[in-house]
Amino acid sequence: MIMNDKNITVAGSGVLGSQIAFQTAFHGFNVTVYDINDEAIERGKDRIVKLKPHYQADLGASEEEVNAAYNRISFYSDLSKAVSDADLVIEAVAEVVQIKTDFYKKLGKAAPEKTIFATNSSTLLPSQFAEATGRPEKFLALHFANEIWKNNTAEIMKHPGTDQKVFDDVIAFAKAIGMVALPLHKEQPGYILNTLLVPFLEAAMTLLVREIADPETIDKTWMIATKSPMGPFVILDMVGINTPYHIELAKAEATGNPEFKKIAELLKSEYIDKGKLGRETGEGFYKYPNPNFIKPDFLKG
Ligand code: NAD
Repeated sequence: MIMNDKNITVAGSGVLGSQIAFQTAFHGFNVTVYDINDEAIERGKDRIVKLKPHYQADLGASEEEVNAAYNRISFYSDLSKAVSDADLVIEAVAEVVQIKTDFYKKLGKAAPEKTIFATNSSTLLPSQFAEATGRPEKFLALHFANEIWKNNTAEIMKHPGTDQKVFDDVIAFAKAIGMVALPLHKEQPGYILNTLLVPFLEAAMTLLVREIADPETIDKTWMIATKSPMGPFVILDMVGINTPYHIELAKAEATGNPEFKKIAELLKSEYIDKGKLGRETGEGFYKYPNPNFIKPDFLKG
């Protein structure tokens, strides 16, 4: 049982994996982080260390609390070691079907029988990977939002083969790590959040590749007209450019639509190849720490 033994493995220590690991450790669970090699692990450690001040500033956590949370995390690039006693594995590896399928095949063999697997995939359905896991009844989706400690939604979604007890267990786990648990009773591509968000961000990038308006103008339009604190390009910087890149590339390949291809090419050549991966790297569509959209006159002209 997840809630009794409290051993959680997070696979992938990128933008979301590092946040899930720290949030889970912060709430008292023993966390193991798995990533593909020692370099990826070092990057993951670095990301997790950088979360500490956010927990202090945003949640009022003490230095002792954030250090204790960090000390509850161990790191492995060997999958068998990383999952040897896991009650739950939360998968947050790159949003690429083949990478995830290969991962689940290996994981299914490496993990003990008791282990529940949950995917944090934003755009792919758990039923796509259920067979590869070798344990479809113990597999489901557990989807977090970026900046998990503040944006504390957890969308928990069954695929047709998920055991109800597993679903209930993961809902209880999500609550135990400070999330608002949002159960989805049927499989829905993009869950609730991304059913709303992905078309919105894609519409903004379409305006850009059609050379209709620049990112700041598009953001201003949205922010002024809807009184929203963030426009689509602010959100894209927050998400990180890799994820929308993979989404648009996959859609271009699946549909042959040249506009999706154009968006993917733009994200790759102008942002990813130049190291502008969004807020995390100090630059994406905006430059940080003082991006234009927070300047007082941004919405005035
Ligand atoms: P990321 O690119 O920041 O990190 C991906 C991680 O996967 C890296 O640590 C990489 O080393 C690792 N990885 C790559 N190949 C691997 C393999 N074969 N085995 C194990 N690990 C491997 O991506 P991210 O933004 O953290 O996204 C990860 C997952 O979380 C995706 O499924 C994405 O849809 C989902 N997600 C992302 C966000 C977001 O805002 N970024 C929000 C919700 C969910």
